[in-house]
Amino acid sequence: MDILCVGAGLSGAVTGRALAEAGHRVTVIEARDHVAGNCHTERDPETGVMVHVYGPHIFHTDDPGVWDYVTRFAAFRPYKNRVKTTVGGAVYSLPVNLHTINQFFGRTMRPDEARAFIEEKADTTIADPQSFEEQALRFVGPELYEAFFKGYTEKQWGCSPRDLPAAILKRLPLRFNYDDDYFAHRFQAMPEAGYTAMVAAILDHPGIDVHLATPFTEDHAARADHVIWTGPLDAYFDHRLGRLGYRTLDFERFTARGDWQGCAVMNYGDREVPQTRITEHKHFAPWEVHAGTVCYRETSRACEPGDTPYYPIRLVEEKSMLSDYVALAEGTRGVTFLGRLGTYRYLDMDVTIREALDASETLVSAFEAGAPAPVFPHPPL
Ligand SMILES: Cc1cc2nc3c(=O)[nH]c(=O)nc-3n(C[C@H](O)[C@H](O)[C@H](O)COP(=O)(O)OP(=O)(O)OC[C@H]3O[C@@H](n4cnc5c(N)ncnc54)[C@H](O)[C@@H]3O)c2cc1C
Repeated sequence: MDILCVGAGLSGAVTGRALAEAGHRVTVIEARDHVAGNCHTERDPETGVMVHVYGPHIFHTDDPGVWDYVTRFAAFRPYKNRVKTTVGGAVYSLPVNLHTINQFFGRTMRPDEARAFIEEKADTTIADPQSFEEQALRFVGPELYEAFFKGYTEKQWGCSPRDLPAAILKRLPLRFNYDDDYFAHRFQAMPEAGYTAMVAAILDHPGIDVHLATPFTEDHAARADHVIWTGPLDAYFDHRLGRLGYRTLDFERFTARGDWQGCAVMNYGDREVPQTRITEHKHFAPWEVHAGTVCYRETSRACEPGDTPYYPIRLVEEKSMLSDYVALAEGTRGVTFLGRLGTYRYLDMDVTIREALDASETLVSAFEAGAPAPVFPHPPL
């Protein structure tokens, strides 16, 4: 069959590859002038540092199948994400761990002592936390909430933590040991030559044609037997039911000599400091040596038409519009929606790859059986 993949991010590339390997002819069209979607990396022209153009990306997974898959296409180097935060004029370790707690309260507590200390601070009158704020007050108490969660969340989501669901904050977002590894996954690594080289290798198959700087038009669809849509779900329908809300990010680039902040990611928890974080990209490739350094100062705001959509908001209003789009999509034929934009969900890279691999298997079986292909192999709701 002639398959059209709209989008050359991980979803489009992994699905396109699997369908080409199954013998289908695949055309991938990509609106941007590069592959890899939001994982795109490129060398900064001034410093030579590999930059994560759409924000920092650390690969981490517990899925051995996904790990085998990515290491087929790229050499990876071990990489642990160790994030710091600047709050109230001091630098702390994240996620909030025993070091953070001891430093913040000026104590030298052992794990059990710290646990008992935090339990005393927790607001146990909140029996069933409904909002992010209630969840935080219930499990971490007011001081840690104000310092490490409140300001950052307000800046990131543009609203009060009172208006966000409790589920956003994990049950107990604290560690009572000195483990500052941001992720708990078995495989954590960075592709040595960047993500874009990896995605280019995935797309490098005789059955795949890639067209960059080529936004989707109806003509493309008319020439295909089936469309894999990895762009925004609402954009497929020309936003006819309204625009699904996203947060977008702005990156202000600056350069310096040597080492500017001493780590890859420095968060800023204070509400008055406009940025949510600063990323110093050279620290993502500690095996490389560069005299210069390049940093991105990151701020978050509501996504307007023409902006890059980053984080789906998925509050009550958006979910209601999403369910209308899902109903509309389910009435269509010849198109399958995949990926973070196609299903309006935040997906880590490993989950994106797993879903694309599983969806491809379903699609190949459906095509072989002459059965209708699923519209949503992974339901957005
Ligand atoms: C700030 C940020 C940080 C992240 N950090 C991490 C991390 O550390 N670790 C991790 O595992 N994951 C991380 N992620 C998640 C990661 O970015 C996603 O898992 C991944 O990008 C999803 O790939 P995708 O192909 O579904 O979507 P995308 O990468 O968005 O690809 C979709 C592509 O479709 C193209 N497109 C859209 N519409 C059209 C059209 N009409 N015509 C043609 N092309 C079109 C777009 O240009 C884009 O290239 C992060 C995400 C964000 C937002």
